[in-house]
Amino acid sequence: MTNTLLPNAQYGSAAQFLSTPKKLLINGEFVDAASGQTFVTINPATEEKLTDIARGGVEDIDRAVTAARQAFEHGSWSSMTPSQRQRILYRLGDLILENADELAWLESLDNGKPASVARVADVPLTADLFHYMAGWVRTLEGSVVPVSDLAVPGAEFHAYTLREPIGVVGLITPWNYPLLIAAGWQMAACLAAGNTVVLKPSEVTPLSILRFGELALEAGIPEGVINIVPGFGTDAGARLSSHPDVDKIGFTGSTRTGRGILKAVADSNLKKITLELGGKSPDIIMDDADLDVAIPGAAEGIFFNHGQCCCAGSRLYVQEKIYDRVVAGISDYAKTIRLGSGQDANTQMGPLVSKNQENTVLGYIQSGLDEGAEITTGGHKVGDKGFFVEPTVFVNTNSQMKMVREEIFGPVLSIERFSDLEDLVQKANNTEFGLGSGVWTTDLSNAHKVAKAIRAGTVFINCYNVFDAAMPFGGYKQSGWGRNRGKEAFEAYTETKAVYVRLDGIHHTSFACG
Ligand code: NAD
Ligand code: MN
Repeated sequence: MTNTLLPNAQYGSAAQFLSTPKKLLINGEFVDAASGQTFVTINPATEEKLTDIARGGVEDIDRAVTAARQAFEHGSWSSMTPSQRQRILYRLGDLILENADELAWLESLDNGKPASVARVADVPLTADLFHYMAGWVRTLEGSVVPVSDLAVPGAEFHAYTLREPIGVVGLITPWNYPLLIAAGWQMAACLAAGNTVVLKPSEVTPLSILRFGELALEAGIPEGVINIVPGFGTDAGARLSSHPDVDKIGFTGSTRTGRGILKAVADSNLKKITLELGGKSPDIIMDDADLDVAIPGAAEGIFFNHGQCCCAGSRLYVQEKIYDRVVAGISDYAKTIRLGSGQDANTQMGPLVSKNQENTVLGYIQSGLDEGAEITTGGHKVGDKGFFVEPTVFVNTNSQMKMVREEIFGPVLSIERFSDLEDLVQKANNTEFGLGSGVWTTDLSNAHKVAKAIRAGTVFINCYNVFDAAMPFGGYKQSGWGRNRGKEAFEAYTETKAVYVRLDGIHHTSFACG
């Protein structure tokens, strides 16, 4: 591992941001936690402390929900004209781009990913979500609906629908794309529809979203509309999901936590909920694929973001004829990936996000070995400072093995063979998840047959990990409920109201009931 710091114009401003302890954003002000407690966030490449963060708890969530409720009921956000709201969201997108170097640097320090990757992926994609969702603000319109007189014979009606924001939304988000998921995928759609927000970001990576909070105020988002309360799942997260005055939860994280949140929602006020959960996505290389494209493509499909992608192509299925070539090609590719600090310009893969994550990933690697799978490359921790794990490729795996059934969320790939389409579809769909999938082929008909047969929310054909603000993203099966991004996400943050106006004025008793 080398130690060349990236040239970075904004490094100074990131250092300045880190020079003070970070606070909670509640009602337009940065404040300490009611308990006065703090926690530490670290750089996973060096294990050194970055700064202290106020630790939001139950009381802070309550304060934030009250602020969001007031902003929603009496505040200027939901009653602001669409034109004004649109301009503020657009301006926030611009501010994210203007501060992109600093945000990318903070993301790299806190999460471990290369700053160069955050600079071209996480940050501009977040800005684009704000620019995109700003466009939807003006479309919050209902329709006039022709209705009949079955309920009230002879009556005449004017009937229409109204589309309204849901109210106060609680967002709970993970650490793998700390800014992009919290701000881009979740908050942008929420705000565009006129809701107010209380966000509990991951305790592992709170920095970039707190800097975003400052930019939101600078953009003119009124007080109380965005509240950001870093803290832990067991107290802050649990309180937010069971809070009686929260109208919807948007959750992105593991299937296990999502299940718990769903119970909290059911046992409290039956708030609405969107769940974006885990995955174990199949990537497929057919024997007619262009291997010069498919091999690096499938390798990046798992190793991008250190395998910490919810839709990472972690199960690779390769058609028999080309199996040996693909195993050799992917293993060689994995060996050339340069591991190092995310702040180093030469780094292609940074550390995993935390000691916990390192332990989890090494545990899955061991379980694969214990169950008889073989490693072609990787398999070890690297160095004694930082949470570095080698890109790892397994062969001789099968669908019964723990490491093939469960989400690892690390740079670990299993490669299996398939004979024909029927065999492939059976293997690819043999999972409780259904988030992503990929197929590499030059045969148009095979491409579309597979796209149709795979039970997953996204299919990448001759590409992988492509994300656009306008395309819906979400899971089949236990990968989630609902969609993020695109028109679906915007609509999921609205309620529809049906309004009947009786025009003919005749008195009667209606037999209709609901
Ligand atoms: P996690 O489920 O451990 O934590 C996610 C969030 O939930 C964190 O903010 C955490 O503090 C909070 N939380 C934990 N316990 C809670 C509780 N009892 N009540 C309320 N909140 C609680 O997930 P993670 O480790 O941060 O992220 C990795 C997981 O997220 C992976 O499974 C990955 O697949 C998934 N993920 C999914 C998507 C998607 O779009 N489908 C995107 C990114 C990550
Ligand atoms: Mn960190």
